[in-house]
Amino acid sequence: MKYRNRYCKKAKNTYPLLVKCTNCKNKIFLYQKGGKGNLIKMKVDKIISSQSSIAELPNRINCPFCNAPIANLAQYKGEDYYWIIRGSVMVRKIDKKI
Ligand SMILES: [Zn+2]
Repeated sequence: MKYRNRYCKKAKNTYPLLVKCTNCKNKIFLYQKGGKGNLIKMKVDKIISSQSSIAELPNRINCPFCNAPIANLAQYKGEDYYWIIRGSVMVRKIDKKI
């Protein structure tokens, strides 16, 4: 991944999840996922690294490869989250960090 997330904090009981663009299949995020269930939103401090810089916390993230809309920034209980646009990503659990 091109950018390390400067807001990233190590979280317990999580596993690395690779987030890919559905449209072009390129890898966009590495995320520390906790709990079960689908990826609905990404907490900003759980994003490990990304292909598109989130240093300035852009309101919208588009795929850096094909420009498809991926996620929108919105607060939830006072914290910043990127809400995944439905159907825009595919995820894969991985063993190693990238
Ligand atoms: Zn794409």
